[in-house]
Amino acid sequence: MSGIYIHIPFCQSKCDYCNFFSLATTRHRDKIAKAICLEARQRKRYLGDSKIKTVYFGGGTPSLLPLGDIELIMNELSLVFPIDSDAEVTLEANPNDLTEEKLTALKKAGVNRLSIGVQSFLDDDLVFLNRTHDGAQSERSIELALRAGFDNISIDLIFGLPDQEIAAFVKNLEAFHRYGIPHLSAYALTVEPGTALAWKIEKNRKKPVSEDIQADHFLMLMDWMEEKGYVHYEISNFCLPGFESKHNTSYWNNEKYLGLGPSAHSFDGISRQWNIANLSRYLEAVNTGQPAFEKEILTPEQHREEYLMTKIRTDHGIDLRIYKERFGSDEYKKLLKAAESFLQRGWLISGEGNLYLSRRGKLFTDHITAALF
Ligand code: SF4
Repeated sequence: MSGIYIHIPFCQSKCDYCNFFSLATTRHRDKIAKAICLEARQRKRYLGDSKIKTVYFGGGTPSLLPLGDIELIMNELSLVFPIDSDAEVTLEANPNDLTEEKLTALKKAGVNRLSIGVQSFLDDDLVFLNRTHDGAQSERSIELALRAGFDNISIDLIFGLPDQEIAAFVKNLEAFHRYGIPHLSAYALTVEPGTALAWKIEKNRKKPVSEDIQADHFLMLMDWMEEKGYVHYEISNFCLPGFESKHNTSYWNNEKYLGLGPSAHSFDGISRQWNIANLSRYLEAVNTGQPAFEKEILTPEQHREEYLMTKIRTDHGIDLRIYKERFGSDEYKKLLKAAESFLQRGWLISGEGNLYLSRRGKLFTDHITAALF
């Protein structure tokens, strides 16, 4: 079973914290769907005969594409690949792009899961993040999506903004819960080098983020979601039972996937490929039949690190039997040794043959992962 990721690199404007490959331009927007269809044909054999269980339109902002483009791409994919009849087809959307007409067209094109980039229901947060929508649009987009018959919806929320009171974050969670949405992705605000946010903080135009505030928000988030019956199945992801993101879960299970579009990554179990993160060069390469990607064969060390890095973030954690089988007794012993102090501190838990993060340990995921390497 495999997945397909499609990167649509356009945005209405650039959010201050964003370091994804996205362009606030309409230039070449009319060319991307056809190029992705062409790339799909060129890379038809990448996943062998494997059934496609998931398709994910990410970006950028896929909901900015003209109505017919998603349908065009989906039609092409179903001609080129064996797409499972009950495949999960997700599309990332921004609240201010979703209209009744668009939602109907997306359903018709085969999209059955929406991931809405709400980020916050509060205007002050959205202004801080330099988002193009407001809180009312966040709510309206969810109402429209539900009315259009989408029952598999995820929203993104960002927490730990410098001036965000914990009560404000609770308001966001209450708004999320009011709509009975089955999936939440929640991220602490990260200041990535080279972003407008990093620059504004450096110039004292915005306050820096506080690790203490972020930790408080995260601890509250975990309690709140658990109380409402959500499963914390990955460090940033919560769902009602049965509503896990199948696409993202396949990444964490090391399954194969093909990435189409500029900057998209692919993995075939042996190597990683990453498409050119430059729109003009991507279009030129695809249109002239040249490879639009670079490639790296993963070393055994990289396979091991990827396994650790992805599994430690999930609720099942690291399966010690699989780890020993795949990476050998020496690595297994090294892992147990490295885990000792975290087990003693109660940051890691060992149970039923797995090693996983405790509630407290989830605050130190990156530190623990680096130590386990
Ligand atoms: S909408 Fe998403 S991809 Fe686009 S600029 Fe904002 S954070 Fe980045």
